[in-house]
Amino acid sequence: MGGERAALLQALAEQVRICLECRLAESRRVAVPGEGPLDAELVWVGEAPGAAEDRAGRPFVGASGRFLRREMEAAGLDPARMYITNVVKCRPPGNRQPRPDEIAICTGLYLVRQVDLVAPRALVALGATAAAALLAGEVKMTAAHGSWRYDGSLSGQALPVFVTYHPAAALRNERWREEMRADLRQLAASRERVAYGR
Ligand code: URA
Repeated sequence: MGGERAALLQALAEQVRICLECRLAESRRVAVPGEGPLDAELVWVGEAPGAAEDRAGRPFVGASGRFLRREMEAAGLDPARMYITNVVKCRPPGNRQPRPDEIAICTGLYLVRQVDLVAPRALVALGATAAAALLAGEVKMTAAHGSWRYDGSLSGQALPVFVTYHPAAALRNERWREEMRADLRQLAASRERVAYGR
């Protein structure tokens, strides 16, 4: 069963790598499916690959990724036990925000299936784009960060979603950096209760 899920997740990653379903395929170097163990406890969702990821084909390997993994560890969350991916799997030109049609296509084809196959305890939305893609209601980051939401909107998913800042934003802004640190501690402390505590 685990073997079958692993093979399906692998096949999905291969599909991502050759995907031509939206305009982002024209400008990307390589697509970035996401990575992590099949039994990951949490699926972390960023916005889109940046320049470093577009070269490496791996998520969050640039400055904001190094920061994110450091902060996970500091909070007691083992990055090796996490599945890390993005709302869209290809770098938008000039790092612009992904457009609604790109988000709809990419989440519908890939993110929904990744989450289905990994079947984590919960999702973590990194920043406003991920939060908007994962949640039905309005998300104001300054109010929503550090909290669990139960209005997940990914098709067929009823998982709790923890909201925090995007690490690139936290790197730029000292106050958000401190708040993200506190958010991750809060996530670490509450994650075991949340799936059952609804
Ligand atoms: N920013 C993101 O949102 N995702 C990455 O993979 C890297 C930077």
